[in-house]
Amino acid sequence: MTDQPKATGRVLLIYTGGTIGMGRNRQTGALEPLDFNHLIASMPELAAIPVETVVHQFPQPIDSSDMKPQLWARIVQIIADHYEQYDGFVILHGTDTMAFTASALSFMLENLTKPVILTGSQLPINQLRTDGRENLITSIEIAAARHPDGRPRVPEVCIYFSGKLLRGNRATKINSEGFNAFDTFNLPHLADAGVNITYHDELILHPDYSRPMRPHFAMDTGVIVFTLFPGIEEDTVRHLLATPRLRGIVMRTYGSGNAPQQPWLMEALSEATAQGITIINITQCAAGPVAMARYSGGYLLQNAGVISGYDGTVECAVAKLMHLMGHTTDTALIRAQMSRALCGEITVG
Ligand code: ASP
Repeated sequence: MTDQPKATGRVLLIYTGGTIGMGRNRQTGALEPLDFNHLIASMPELAAIPVETVVHQFPQPIDSSDMKPQLWARIVQIIADHYEQYDGFVILHGTDTMAFTASALSFMLENLTKPVILTGSQLPINQLRTDGRENLITSIEIAAARHPDGRPRVPEVCIYFSGKLLRGNRATKINSEGFNAFDTFNLPHLADAGVNITYHDELILHPDYSRPMRPHFAMDTGVIVFTLFPGIEEDTVRHLLATPRLRGIVMRTYGSGNAPQQPWLMEALSEATAQGITIINITQCAAGPVAMARYSGGYLLQNAGVISGYDGTVECAVAKLMHLMGHTTDTALIRAQMSRALCGEITVG
């Protein structure tokens, strides 16, 4: 751990929408996305940051509940088109789906060698008690921060929120009200911002600087998330597994990856596996990994072809499946890649 260097450089600020730039609709009183000029007008401090910040905004800013893979591809395209001109990228994004977007971008921007920092806020930036100012200013500073040798301090897709820099594909929205909206339960913070920004360099990824960043665009959305609960019915599960074009399932199990030991469930899952559907086991617990051989329910799942999601999040498993399925129809390859860490998203072993 060391003190941060002085932030200088060029940052591209990509504005997608979210509460940070919202204002009240005069008729309904509900918050709705406004364009970036509104945000700039509320934040003259932007001009005072010692980093050259250029803005690129979505033509139509959105509430992040409208985020979708086509828009992830648009963000990837913007980053790829401007990759050489900037030291880092800050994405202003609604908090509701920020963890999905951060996860997706971590796979879509292969061998990322520059910081991509997602942030937003719980209160619009024009409100007196807004958390948006600090989130935005610190994100820009982190996106521009470099080591003394000129290499970026955090060459990863991250979420910065409320004093914490988090690996994006490990993060989850944990609070719909408090400013402390995100956390990573299975990985410490990459940095903590107080009076100084303290980077935990030993946790930060090391890309291969001799290779270029490789953007990916294809995502296959044939994925569902399903949660086990006591009393779950065979008809429900069979109906779900018969979903047209289904290729991937994120199954939210109990504890360390456990499930009811009902023969019908194991049969249904085995049949789905045999049809080429990839089923990933993610625990319903906020913290801790899946360890499928620990209890007999988990062991049976393993025999049914269900793959451990280790200590990954649901958001990340969904995005990773979409990404892999978008690039290959080889189920064995998808399963093998789901069991490897591609960019720090799971701890295998
Ligand atoms: N509904 C908003 C969004 O995700 C919430 C936020 O930005 O905090 O766009």
